[in-house]
Amino acid sequence: MLFAEALIASLTPISSPLHSATAVLEPALAPVGRLRDSFGRAITDLRLSVTDRCNYKCVYCRTGNEGAQYSELPIADYLRMVRILVSMGVEKVRLTGGEPLLRSGLVDMVAELSELRTAFHPDGTPLAPGETGHPLDLALTTNGHLLAELAAPLKKAGLDRVTVSMDAVDPEIFSRITRVPRSYERVLAGVRAAQAAGLGPVKVNCVLLRGFNDSQIEAFAEFSRREAVIVRFIEFMPLEEPSAVPDARTWKPEAVITMDEILRRLNVWRPSCSTPAGLVELPANAASETAKRFTFRDGVGEIGIIAPVSRPFCGQCSRVRITSDGCVRTCLFSQSDHDLYGRMRRGGTDEEISSYLRDVIMKKEARHHIGEPDFEKPSRNMVHIGG
Ligand code: SAM
Repeated sequence: MLFAEALIASLTPISSPLHSATAVLEPALAPVGRLRDSFGRAITDLRLSVTDRCNYKCVYCRTGNEGAQYSELPIADYLRMVRILVSMGVEKVRLTGGEPLLRSGLVDMVAELSELRTAFHPDGTPLAPGETGHPLDLALTTNGHLLAELAAPLKKAGLDRVTVSMDAVDPEIFSRITRVPRSYERVLAGVRAAQAAGLGPVKVNCVLLRGFNDSQIEAFAEFSRREAVIVRFIEFMPLEEPSAVPDARTWKPEAVITMDEILRRLNVWRPSCSTPAGLVELPANAASETAKRFTFRDGVGEIGIIAPVSRPFCGQCSRVRITSDGCVRTCLFSQSDHDLYGRMRRGGTDEEISSYLRDVIMKKEARHHIGEPDFEKPSRNMVHIGG
C-alpha cells in the first residue's frame, strides 16, 4: 500500500455518537469529552502566536521586505482562549510568533499560564469534581536573539522548555540566513542562558536548505555533543513568504534535505577518534512525537529528525494553532482561518466559544498534500501562523 493510502485508511472519519455532529454542538464546558477531530485525533497541543513581528528575516521564511502583517491581541484575550482550550483537553502550550520574545507582557503571561491545570486524565476521562489536574507543559519557540536576558525570568515565571531556531553554527552562514549581523553570538548566549536557567533539555531546530546551510549537518552534530543540546533537523516545507520571482529560497522538492540524506551523512561521520561512526536510534518519548531520535555510539549528543515532507506524521497530529490575531488554524497547510477572536469580540460566552472550537476542530484536515500535484500553498506563511 502506498504511504498516502495507508495514511488515509488510518484516518477514516469516526462516527461514534460521541463525535456526531450533535455532540459537536453541545456546550463545551459540559463534560462532553476531550477535544477530538473527525478522525478521532485528540487535540492536546496548542501553538499560540503572541505577535506577528519578528526581528530576523530568515531567507527561507520571509522576503525581507514585509513586516508584521497581522495584529496582536491583548494578553488577557490569549489567556482566555488558552483557558477554554485547556478545559477541553489541551495539555501543552507552545508560545511562538513572529518572535515571541518581542512581545511585552510575555513573562507575566507565562506566570498566568503556569497556574492553569489540565482538565482530563491521561486516558482522556474528565477529572472528577474536586480532583486537580497537572500543570500544563509550557514551551516556547524563539530565534534566541533576546533569550540571554529573558531565560531566567521566563523560567522563574514557570516556563518548562525552550526550542531555539538556529540554522547554522558557522557565524557567517548564520548571519547570511538571518540577515542580522552578529546574530550567532547572541543566539549562542541565549542557548547557554536557557541551559543555565534550567529550561532544558534545550532543543535547537535547524531547517536545512540545499545550497544554504547543508554544509552544517556534521557541525550541528558536534554542536549537540559540545553544548549538550538536542539538535533537530526539520525538512523545509512550502511555507515561505512568496517572492515575485522564484529564487533559491523558494520551496521546491530539490531544496529539501530529506531525513534519508541526513541519516546517510551522519552515519558515516565519526564523532571522535575513539568513537566509531554510526547513529544509534533512540526510542520515541511519546506516540505523538514528530522527531525520530538518534545518538552516537558513545551516547553523547542527540539528533532529532522531523520529516514532514518525506515521512509525514499527520495521522498522529494532536495540534491546533492560534495566530497572533486570534484565528484558529487546524493545520499548517489550511486554506482558511477560523476567526475565534471575532466570536470573543462579539461577546461570545465561554460555552459558545467552546462550542465553536469543537465545530472548527471537526474540520481539521486529514493530512497535508506537500509534493502532490493538487498541493496548494496555505493561506498564510509560517511566520504569520506560528511554527
Ligand atoms: N521566531 C521564532 C523562531 O525563530 O523560532 C518562532 C517563529 S518561526 C516561524 C518558527 C520555526 O519555523 C522556526 O524554527 C523556523 O525555522 C521554522 N520555519 C520557518 N519557515 C519554515 C519552512 N518553510 N519550513 C520549515 N520550517 C520553517
